Amino acid sequence: MQSRRAGKIKPFIAMELLARAGELEASGRDIVHMELGEPDQSAPGHVVKAAFQAIKEGYTTYTPTEGIHELRRAVSGHYAREYDVELDPDRVFITMGVSPALFLVFSFLLNPGDEVVIHEPYYPPYPKCISYLGGRVRSVKLDRTDGFAIDLERMLASVTGRTKAILINSPSNPTGMIADREVLTGLADSGITIISDEIYHRITYGVKAASILEFTDNCWVLNGFSKVYGMTGWRLGWVICPRDALDQLKAVHQNFFLSANAFVQKAGEAALTGPQDFVSDRLEIYNQRRIYLIESLAKLGWRLGSEPQGAFYLLADISSTGLDGLTVSRRLLEEAGVAVTPGLDFGELAGDFIRFSYATDLERIKVGVARIRRWLERF
Ligand code: PLP
Repeated sequence: MQSRRAGKIKPFIAMELLARAGELEASGRDIVHMELGEPDQSAPGHVVKAAFQAIKEGYTTYTPTEGIHELRRAVSGHYAREYDVELDPDRVFITMGVSPALFLVFSFLLNPGDEVVIHEPYYPPYPKCISYLGGRVRSVKLDRTDGFAIDLERMLASVTGRTKAILINSPSNPTGMIADREVLTGLADSGITIISDEIYHRITYGVKAASILEFTDNCWVLNGFSKVYGMTGWRLGWVICPRDALDQLKAVHQNFFLSANAFVQKAGEAALTGPQDFVSDRLEIYNQRRIYLIESLAKLGWRLGSEPQGAFYLLADISSTGLDGLTVSRRLLEEAGVAVTPGLDFGELAGDFIRFSYATDLERIKVGVARIRRWLERF
């Protein structure tokens, strides 16, 4: 029934595990969830209040396709504060999250056969979205012995005459790696268009993630409210686009998406312009969990892909079990009641890894680790 390209899209493997976890829970089993990339703390009170207020004030209609001016200005203010970058609000395009933004940007940029260079392990939708929209993926497999750091030379060596853009994700899902400034400088200097998914910016531990916008204007920056503000279900994000793309981008977005939700945009404005102390409070909580997991996985004899510097994930090498990551994640779920994501979701390169998400309460993480320890003892 479906088109050939729709038929090729595979769901995240994590979804299969999530569904199975649901069945086990329905049958009375207790499952520790460390597979979800979803903050366990929701939007701060003042943001919720702003959404209610906006509904009362009638922000319930379509908005200009590029978003309401107040929010675009607030995003521009965010770049001034966070990165010391002067950004014309006209270059800010409001979307219903980074996911539709990826679809928007790739559909805007790619002609059939155009290539996009990405780094592996990658966020699962990247290659699927590029291929779905007629592009070709050139995946640069990063070196596990180098903590999966972005390899500038190999990224640039993968560029061909058909390359339309290089896509980077820092801090990375699933590794937590942060691109250093030299890498961003090198990418910017290459003259190739850079698409930068910065959704985990501000969730960093002791280092600050630089935005590609500090280095070049020949870029598309994608970011949103899902992770930092715990607003996954609100569906709100933005794209910083090159100035000359704006008019045609409006035409594309208008036809396919109309606009982001009006009162959610007002809530987004409140999120960016209101108090920000909860960001550091949440960071402190993530960091405690991160340190706990790093130490406990080491005690289990599982090496890390890299010590994560950002996001809320940790990629653990489970090859010492003699099993692959998919088998380990299935068995941990069935036999230990612990849900994690198989590395395979993030590309073949991570097949011997499993990804832990520490967007889960520390006490539950401790229960999960204890169960894994017992499972390994029995194993
Ligand atoms: N980009 C990355 C790297 C992600 O990990 C995720 C969600 O897990 C998204 C984008 C999706 O973001 P949004 O909720 O804004 O669609």
